[in-house]
Amino acid sequence: MGPQQDRLAAKPYTNGTAAPAARRKENKVVRYKECQRNHAASIGGHAVDGCREFMASGAEGTAAALLCAACGCHRSFHRREVEATAECDCSSDTSSGARR
Ligand SMILES: [Zn+2]
Repeated sequence: MGPQQDRLAAKPYTNGTAAPAARRKENKVVRYKECQRNHAASIGGHAVDGCREFMASGAEGTAAALLCAACGCHRSFHRREVEATAECDCSSDTSSGARR
């Protein structure tokens, strides 16, 4: 076991980010990346929570789907990024891992 080992299993961020339903229709995938919510705005500072990628708290179509499971912020606080992917439908049905 070296330090080079890629520990994908330990990172819950790798999948379960977007909605599988929305992914099938178009070739565009919208991802929500770094959280940009300024937690120190009320005191005149600037501090983000360091969340790297939006991860839905619940299933698509529910209110929880708009909240980040990692930092708890609304999805709109996360930087929006549109990707055009022709073929990336590999992990459609692995939706069970994100919940606690
Ligand atoms: Zn956040």
